[in-house]
Amino acid sequence: SDDVRRQKIENRVAKMRFSAATARKIQDVFISEMNKGIHQQPSSLQMENTYIPELLDGTEEGLYLALDLGGTNFRVVLLELAHGAPIREEVKRYYIGSELRVGSAIPLFDHLAESVSDFVISQGLQDVELPLGFTFSFPMIQHSLDVGVLVTWTKTFNCPDAVNKDAVRLLREALDRRGDTKVKVLAVLNDTTGTLVQGSTLDHNTAVGLILGTGSNACYLERADRVEHWETERHGEREVIIDIEWGAFGDNGVLDFIKTDFDRENDANSLIVNSFTFEKYIAGKYLGEVVRVILVKLTKEKLLFVGDSTSDSLLTPGNLTTDLVSHIEQDSLDGGDSNTKEILAKFGIIPDEDDIRIVQYVCEVASNRAALLVSICLASLIDRIDKEQVTIAVDGSLYKHHPRLEGWMKQYISLLCTPGRKFKLIHAEDGSGKGAALVSAIAHRLK
Ligand code: ADP
Repeated sequence: SDDVRRQKIENRVAKMRFSAATARKIQDVFISEMNKGIHQQPSSLQMENTYIPELLDGTEEGLYLALDLGGTNFRVVLLELAHGAPIREEVKRYYIGSELRVGSAIPLFDHLAESVSDFVISQGLQDVELPLGFTFSFPMIQHSLDVGVLVTWTKTFNCPDAVNKDAVRLLREALDRRGDTKVKVLAVLNDTTGTLVQGSTLDHNTAVGLILGTGSNACYLERADRVEHWETERHGEREVIIDIEWGAFGDNGVLDFIKTDFDRENDANSLIVNSFTFEKYIAGKYLGEVVRVILVKLTKEKLLFVGDSTSDSLLTPGNLTTDLVSHIEQDSLDGGDSNTKEILAKFGIIPDEDDIRIVQYVCEVASNRAALLVSICLASLIDRIDKEQVTIAVDGSLYKHHPRLEGWMKQYISLLCTPGRKFKLIHAEDGSGKGAALVSAIAHRLK
């Protein structure tokens, strides 16, 4: 009967529904990995020093630039600040052809420099000294605020001669070759750090930056005396932003106790197996694939789409994208089924009533697990940050568009952090653009 089928399906995904004890265990592992990372012991969390020791102090004035490479768009941003707050913003998107994304790094960085100078000249600012913050959203090792050594290219970029080189130096050399502007590259950062700093202009209690987009990562304000890896001279800094790089949480096996056969298959279908373990549970690039893998397994086990033949389209990895999970979740919220039917029809599936409810249930289980995992880590950060009120600045399309994540996160974080702790989630749009210009303003003031 249908009740028996429903029970079988619930059993099949039961490992994805964490008990309170499992949630606590994950939290303990996360805290332990953070402590190891910050003490430079082997850990799946890099806990990178960003060398950003403070936020805006309200004295920053004038014009600042940002160059944003590594997100969905490549952009140059100009921000005008008065009393440490943005009063004007100009943005221009530039195109990077596929031929520039691979091969030698020189043509790529020449193109970046050309875009900067095109933008600066179009603003009539070629004779003005302009600080620039460089958002370089690739794995890098930072030796100081303005030295970031590329570890490896990701996404659609692959210029091998730039690996192990300082991205700031490559950009400065390209700007020097042109010599037609007075742009000064003062800082290199990633989108997560930009989001924290951008959030701090919206809410002065901001102490965590979170990205839930294609990938996922977080950073937070740490006490400077807890940070061991610090290559530059210290000047009595009290705090510093630490980039956790949590996408790789669990790559060393510490999270294996939550791994299901669905996750193993999702990993096997990914570009780089056995890496970015945590990201594969939570980020936009993978959430749809987790759902697809579950649906295919349930179908093969004759628990789903029993009356229908298997859809070839559903069997293809990558075919169920995370935006579709959001649309199906919207049905669950509305108590409807129109989105679910429409999506399944595109896969060539004509579901019965039970199939629809099972598909909705699977989307809920996968989404809910992502929300809980992110919340477990955020609650640990809130407890770690010794402030009465902690605001978390969030950016990324998954967070923005998924209809239930934010609500679940609010609920789970308050259950998991120390009772009485106050926190807020705010949406900080465009940290990778505006945030980088703001970081260059902080760097300029600290010089
Ligand atoms: P990026 O992280 O690449 O800079 P975004 O923050 O826009 O850019 O994230 C893009 C990712 O967000 C996509 O890969 C997709 O997985 C996810 N996404 C896009 N639209 C939605 C949606 N409606 N619901 C959930 N996730 C979405």
